[in-house]
Amino acid sequence: MFRKDWLHNNDFKNWLIPIEGHKTSKENLAGCRFCNSQYKSELTVIKNHLKSRKHLTNEQLIINEPEPNHVDVSVDETDNSKIKRCETILAGFLAENNLSFTLSDKLIRTIKNAVPDSQIVSKISLDRTKSTAIVTNVIGKYEKENLTERVKNTYFCVQLT
Ligand SMILES: [Zn+2]
Repeated sequence: MFRKDWLHNNDFKNWLIPIEGHKTSKENLAGCRFCNSQYKSELTVIKNHLKSRKHLTNEQLIINEPEPNHVDVSVDETDNSKIKRCETILAGFLAENNLSFTLSDKLIRTIKNAVPDSQIVSKISLDRTKSTAIVTNVIGKYEKENLTERVKNTYFCVQLT
């Protein structure tokens, strides 16, 4: 007899399904969602199937198969990092050329105007506060580490006058 409480058993619930038996027998068969197969509705048979190589392999394949959602997430992440990269380059441009960060807004508007068909460009945002923060916290920090690294490996000549 196929027992309904098997469906709530933690070991079985992900894969066990009742399958209607043949017309001659009214008894439900125990089906496996992972293996696409059916077995006699006996606890020992079900437990053996759970441990079988076939079932374990199929379970691994199904669990490791990436869901379509995951792909979307990673695309978004790449987009996000492209947007951040773009904002960092622009903030760096202002800093490198000693331009005022108050130009940020104008710069972004000009670029969006010039490149109307880019997803990335349409999503970048950079105002005075943000470009200051990027230069101080991102570029500044990186350059400081970079400089520290160079100073460590360089000999200096100190000239006292
Ligand atoms: Zn199975």
